[in-house]
Parts: sequence; C-alpha cells; structure tokens
Amino acid sequence: MSALSIKQLTKTYKGGVEALKGIDLEVKQGDFFALLGPNGAGKSTTIGIIASLVNKSSGEVTIYGDNLDTHKVAAKSHIGLVPQEFNFNQFETLQQIVVNQAGYYGVPRDLAKQRAEKYLKQLDLWEKRNQPARSLSGGMKRRLMIARALMHEPKMLILDEPTAGVDIEIRRSMWQFLREINAQGITIILTTHYLEEAEMLCRNIAIIDKGRIIENTTIKGLLAEL
Ligand code: ADP
Ligand code: ADP
Repeated sequence: MSALSIKQLTKTYKGGVEALKGIDLEVKQGDFFALLGPNGAGKSTTIGIIASLVNKSSGEVTIYGDNLDTHKVAAKSHIGLVPQEFNFNQFETLQQIVVNQAGYYGVPRDLAKQRAEKYLKQLDLWEKRNQPARSLSGGMKRRLMIARALMHEPKMLILDEPTAGVDIEIRRSMWQFLREINAQGITIILTTHYLEEAEMLCRNIAIIDKGRIIENTTIKGLLAEL
C-alpha cells in the first residue's frame, strides 16, 4: 500500500512566492524516505501540507488511502510530526509532555502511561521522565519530540531536518533511533540538506529544488550517478 501519494501539488504563499510548482511523490509503506534539497527548496512547505499545517494551493495528497481534503482527521491520525523547532512546554516534565500528547488523540490515560514508558525507554529518556524538559540537552529534546510524535502510534513519522545543527555524535545516535523505529514497520520521511544523512539512512530519495522534484530515485541509484 502507498503510505503517501502526492499529485501535482502546488503552493503559492500570499506574498506571491511559488514554493511548490507541481510536485508528485509516492512513498511506500515501511520506506525510509529522504526529501533532500537546499534551503528554500520547498521541503518544509511540503511537510507542512502533509501534516495539515499549511494549506495547499492545488493538487492531491493521500495518506494511507485517506485523502487530505475529504478525510482530513483520518489522514492526520496516520502521521506523527517532528518539527524543527522545539515546540513543547519547557516547564512540563517529559512524562507530562508525552502523556498529554496522547490525550489530544483520545488515547486513554492508562494506555498513554504504558506508551510513555515504552517510547521514553526506546528513546533513552526514561530516567529523565520526571524532569522538566528545559533541563534536557539539545539532542535529548529532539528525542523527546520523537517520543511525543509516536504516542498515538502513527503509521508514518515525518521529521523536518531532525539533525540540523547537532554534532556528529548526536547525529549518529539519532540515526540509530530512527533505524529502530523504521524496523518496527513505521514509514519514515525526513527532510535534510545533508546528502550523507540520506545516504546513511534512507532507501529512496527525492531531490527538490525551487519547488520542483528534480530527481526521484533510490539512494543506490543516486550514488551510482555521482
Ligand atoms: P498561508 O498561505 O498558508 O495561510 P501565509 O502566506 O499567510 O500562509 O503566511 C503565514 C505566515 O508566514 C505569515 O505570517 C507570513 O508573514 C510568514 N512569512 C512570510 N514570508 C515568509 C517566509 N519567506 N518564510 C517564512 N515565513 C514567512
Ligand atoms: P525549505 O524547507 O526547503 O528550506 P520552505 O518550504 O521553507 O523551504 O520555503 C520554500 C519557499 O517558500 C522559500 O522561498 C520561502 O521563503 C517561502 N516561504 C516559506 N514559508 C513561507 C510563508 N509562510 N510565507 C511566504 N513565503 C514562505
């Protein structure tokens, strides 16, 4: 089954910037997919539209068979989003942040607590569960955002530049966590401007530049061309 299908997607912002000029993408269930491109290429806009944070201008987006226009709630429920900025309350504890997130999706509290234990352990944050988020290092905060995004057990995790600005050691440990999550059967889509990151993690890749997909291939295929 197709995890994500995008057809002729366009976005023109109110000021007139044509951020997306008609992109097509297919991502399969279980894939680890990279959307690679320079700053301003349209990566965040694409992700924003998939996650219903940005309104598209035209085109079609289908997530696990649910069309974003006609089945928005179902489409959104398939996705866990990890944005670039830390957007949690820094004064809440890790446990509060992840349990409350599950609450937004209607997960019963007992189940939410079980999942909190599962995902905070998986992301190596369990010992910190009663500390306020502001006490965490940058790498831990990024992992907290991943744990939070998993709390409603989405089929697909979307990460916007998950390792931007973090040092290589933290980047490698993040990669390991993402591989484990993908191995559990969760489809992963990430944006990056590091070719190395796409190469280390992903099977399939699309390269976006100035609002157009200029390449859509396997990592192996791309490396063979270089
Ligand atoms: P939409 O069309 O999705 O409603 P808007 O065009 O209203 O989006 O823009 C959303 C917000 O982003 C506005 O407050 C706008 O000022 C701000 N914004 C404008 N230009 C940029 C830019 N180049 N990058 C990021 N944000 C911008
Ligand atoms: P990327 O994530 O690849 O850096 P973006 O999707 O953020 O690219 O931006 C694509 C283009 O759209 C850029 O020219 C950017 O300035 C513009 N843009 C992004 N957000 C907004 C906004 N809210 N309002 C107006 N223009 C925007």
